[in-house]
Amino acid sequence: MIENRKVRVRFAPSPTGPLHIGGVRTALYNYLFAKRNNGTFILRIEDTDQNRFVPGAQEYIIEALKWAGINYDEGPDIGGPFSPYLQSERKELYKQFADKLIAEGKAYYAFDTPEELDSLRDRLKAAGATSQQYDSSTRGLMKNSLTLSDEEVKNRLNAGEQFVIRIKIPENEEIVVNDLIRGRVEVQSSLLDDKVLFKSDGMPTYHLANIVDDHLMEISHVIRGEEWLPSAPLHVLLYRFFDWEAPQFAHLPLLLKPDGNGKLSKRDGDRLGFPVFPLQWKDPKTGEISSGYRESGYFPDSFINMIALLGWNPGTEQEILSLDELVSLFSMERVGKSGSKFDPEKAKWFNHKYLVEKPDAELAVLFKKVLEKKGIFAEEDFVLKVVNLVKERANFVEDFWAQSSFFFEAPAEYDQQVVKKRWKEGVPEMMGEIKNLLQGIPVFSAEVIKADIVKFTEEKNISLGVVMNALRLVLVGGGFGPDLALIAEMLGKEEVIRRIDAGIKNIA
Ligand code: GLU
Repeated sequence: MIENRKVRVRFAPSPTGPLHIGGVRTALYNYLFAKRNNGTFILRIEDTDQNRFVPGAQEYIIEALKWAGINYDEGPDIGGPFSPYLQSERKELYKQFADKLIAEGKAYYAFDTPEELDSLRDRLKAAGATSQQYDSSTRGLMKNSLTLSDEEVKNRLNAGEQFVIRIKIPENEEIVVNDLIRGRVEVQSSLLDDKVLFKSDGMPTYHLANIVDDHLMEISHVIRGEEWLPSAPLHVLLYRFFDWEAPQFAHLPLLLKPDGNGKLSKRDGDRLGFPVFPLQWKDPKTGEISSGYRESGYFPDSFINMIALLGWNPGTEQEILSLDELVSLFSMERVGKSGSKFDPEKAKWFNHKYLVEKPDAELAVLFKKVLEKKGIFAEEDFVLKVVNLVKERANFVEDFWAQSSFFFEAPAEYDQQVVKKRWKEGVPEMMGEIKNLLQGIPVFSAEVIKADIVKFTEEKNISLGVVMNALRLVLVGGGFGPDLALIAEMLGKEEVIRRIDAGIKNIA
């Protein structure tokens, strides 16, 4: 039925806080599906629930999608043929649809106060009813336009009494949701409650606004998180009530905790030390800061690659996939049914893979910023060389510092374990000789340095390792780092001599 429809999909977050990585994945799959099918990807902000509105959340969502490179074709900040894309700006539109359902007997006004609703629940519970919901079995006990006279309903409405409009769910009907991932899902209508569609504050609820907009915006496929699967039968029913063609549904499996079962939550991130949000977020109420992938040094392309594989696979072993490759390979058939465990170590692995593939010049620009924050202003060429030497050992640009600080600062202290192992009796004297040797080298290049040291050890009949390890200790402060002769060349003769002197003087 949908095959001939132009593919139009939407990501429809509610601005109730920062976007969770599960939300980013939903947006990404929508994007990939749209691009794969030459379709259109839309961002629609569902902000009808004013109680849950969080300032800054909408801006956050937009910024996060931009950072991740999930570009939409229509949206609140860029407009489009179905503007506006902010539900609060479409407010006037929804009432007529609720009214239409009332006129056709498919919805009704309800005037029950919160206390009356509570008391219904209590009475049903006391009577041993298995369900305490507002539905076909209980609506007859309540204050609504099905039980009150027309006259009374009119009076209440005219008097400005608070009301809601509820859908009238039919009794004993089978509702079928054909889900592209889950297959056929059947639900008995008697299990559904008469959900509120519209409130007297003039705002539609999520359910009404969502399907009205999906219809008006000509959405062909609804791709969203599994938590919305229980709402799908209601949505299918609403499409039927309006006599609209329903979109195809695809409910994506949950993202699970790295350890154990259950939905991945912000608390798991806090507990295990990884971000669950794409960008850093500052809670406007509490001021609490939650870390973000961007601020933690992840590259957007690596982040996207990692997210794409949480619940979908390309059918091959290939794990490193660019956005273009993802677009060309994406299909709903390869989205799994079961939840996928989030693996923060794998996220780092992806970043490492992307980092080593980045041009040194690009990394050098980023590393220069890290250095400048530390008050170090080094030559571009020098930084470039350093980056090339250490990038294999880093997951993030920030890691370069731990691997290479000795290129920019003489060691302030020495790793005591290495001292114990490498700075034995006679070593300071030997380093004195090495100093003289190096001082005499006219062209201070790695090759010459290395050759001269080898010659020295052969003449003295001492092991090359003993010399190199001690020299490494004075130059870098420990037992790590890239090729030592290269380090010496890059530091330059004067600095090398200075560090040997300092080592002889300071290493106890
Ligand atoms: N506004 C809903 C949300 O916050 C959208 C669900 C849907 O895609 O239908 O996730």
